Amino acid sequence: MQIIHPLADMTHWSREVIASGKTIALVPTMGYFHAGHLCLMRLAGQLADQVVVSLFVNSLQFAPSEDLSRYPRDLERDTRMAENENVDILFLPTDEDMYFPDYNARVRVGGITDTLCGKQRPGHFEGVTTVVAKLFNIIKPHYAVFGRKDFQQLSVIRKMVKDLNWDIEIVGHPIVREDDGLAMSSRNMYLSAEERSKALCLYNAIQHAKARFADGVTDAGLLKSEIRDIISANSGVSIDYISVVDKDTLFDKEVIDSQSVMALAVRVGGTRLIDNCFMGNDTETRS
Ligand code: AMP
Repeated sequence: MQIIHPLADMTHWSREVIASGKTIALVPTMGYFHAGHLCLMRLAGQLADQVVVSLFVNSLQFAPSEDLSRYPRDLERDTRMAENENVDILFLPTDEDMYFPDYNARVRVGGITDTLCGKQRPGHFEGVTTVVAKLFNIIKPHYAVFGRKDFQQLSVIRKMVKDLNWDIEIVGHPIVREDDGLAMSSRNMYLSAEERSKALCLYNAIQHAKARFADGVTDAGLLKSEIRDIISANSGVSIDYISVVDKDTLFDKEVIDSQSVMALAVRVGGTRLIDNCFMGNDTETRS
């Protein structure tokens, strides 16, 4: 595995790979790898001849009140883990190179970012689409792999690629979970033992929603109030949103169908966790 820092070196490498007729799959990450990240890398290896993993904690997608400075980092461990997954390039751009002093451009996808996490975290998705757009231009991948854990992010990236006519195939990977069902996340390390067990209410809520839909319940309002009760039963857990939306448009649904997604964001202590499930048939991956 080769480690590349300079943006120009990354682009040079990509140009040579493309000139030789080979394909590139990109996995954008913010590091502190867990099994979810590794599954994305493996999928990238099945899609293309060469796998590039970018690791960049993107300041632009954090609000001033959010956890940028305490975001977990362990480059040595991440490097070892990526190497074991047959990653070809670990791309580590610096903040100064990505956002040089007179840097001013933003990429914003309207509409689809006005709901769910976009509503709760103003500017977040603009930061995400801006950095992903830059990575696409620097690396020129044929494929880019994103996790369905960040379901809205995946939808926003797909919309950006469609709207801007990028010739890149966006591939979603199912949510990878811990053995007890908690969705893997770099942020889980913030949880105390007590919070970690309370965090399971997200998965329990999702299991409940799927079971009720399978039993014929289609009233989104009813199901959301049941989910609210399940989550609120845990002290110290607060709800950011419980939503049922169309999987493509992200518009709210009043009647649940197989194209609906239930999406949750809750705060367990000081840690914001998200999870979601497709109400129709779906395959999820466990580590
Ligand atoms: P992050 O480093 O948190 O920005 O995540 C990098 C990529 O990994 C994103 O596309 C995430 O959606 C994906 N990802 C993170 N956690 C999981 C998970 N538990 N299952 C599947 N994909 C994930």
